[in-house]
Amino acid sequence: MKGITLLGLGLATIFATSSCNNQSGEEKMDSKKGITKAAFGNADGKEVSLYTLTNAKGTQVKISNYGGVVTSWVAPDKNKQKASIVLGFDSLSGYLSKPPYFGALIGRYGNRIAKGTFKIDTATYTLATNNGANALHGGNKGFDKVVWDATTENDTVPALKLSYLSKDGEEGYPGNLQVNVEYTLTDDDELKIEYKATTDKATVVNLTNHTYFNLTGDVSNTILDHELKVDADHYTPVDSRLIPTGVIAPVKGGPFDFTKATKIGLRIDSVTGGYDHNFVLNKNDTSLTKVATVTDAKSGRTLEVFTMEPGMQFYTGNFLDGTFKTSDGKAINKHTAFCLETQHFPDSPNQPKFPGTLLVPGQQYHTITVYKLSVSK
Ligand code: BGC
Repeated sequence: MKGITLLGLGLATIFATSSCNNQSGEEKMDSKKGITKAAFGNADGKEVSLYTLTNAKGTQVKISNYGGVVTSWVAPDKNKQKASIVLGFDSLSGYLSKPPYFGALIGRYGNRIAKGTFKIDTATYTLATNNGANALHGGNKGFDKVVWDATTENDTVPALKLSYLSKDGEEGYPGNLQVNVEYTLTDDDELKIEYKATTDKATVVNLTNHTYFNLTGDVSNTILDHELKVDADHYTPVDSRLIPTGVIAPVKGGPFDFTKATKIGLRIDSVTGGYDHNFVLNKNDTSLTKVATVTDAKSGRTLEVFTMEPGMQFYTGNFLDGTFKTSDGKAINKHTAFCLETQHFPDSPNQPKFPGTLLVPGQQYHTITVYKLSVSK
């Protein structure tokens, strides 16, 4: 599989020791390569944990089994100053206050299904609608708001394995869907997310992760100066309710043209509300391929995205309005973070020309996305 070899790099079995702040930034601790588990509260009558994945470089990613949320990703900038490059909270209560999917696993269907309805053969299914008349990100209680079963592995790289059984009829979706998601952190600062699912009845599936990044590591800065490059010659225009019109439109020359590295803020004012669009990636197979690069000159940090998916939602935090605050009290405002949600296209179950999202018994849904962080010297 093209690109997958990058995950094999740097799997040194040495145990590095590094010094870092814990997530609340209060105390110093020594951390070793591996995975640790700490109590993170209770939800749905179940204990919730926070897992810390540390690689040989001392990079730390924290993930909870509540919603599979990535709560922090701490890495140095070009001046060796450490900070988290993702939006997240250091307590479960932040997530229970229903932020807009910070760091979360999204399912059963990422993004919108128009009017919360779709057909499989002759059967019509009616979903929970939670975004005006539409279904968004799995409904009222999507995979971002459930407690996943978790196990850990620590062989060559720290890994967190999450599983969840989404019952037949949950949020209106047909079929018992067994979902398994594995997060691993390599020594090359790659956060790999591998998704697998099987069903006992035909259903639709579109899983993604909704991490919001700000490569400056400080939400007081917008992401408008970050430069983005996306390997996509087309995107899917949307109507006023953010439902694709069905057209696959060229990006060439317009505000959606990120085929060359371009500042996110350069043309954002000509897109109503900001970017919240699915890019049709140029890849035409399911290989794990690099599709996007984001660079922040100020911090020297670069994020690369690799995926097996045909699409990617580029969202510039348009609806962030200061309602939510970071754990250290900073307001999270409009355009202070971006998401690159690798996925099938929004509303595919109602769009015959889009790549299909049907999963039937006997098939396995399998997809991998990798976020790779690096810093200039
Ligand atoms: C959607 C946005 C939505 C955001 C947070 C994105 O994936 O495309 O429209 O506001 O998620 O819910």
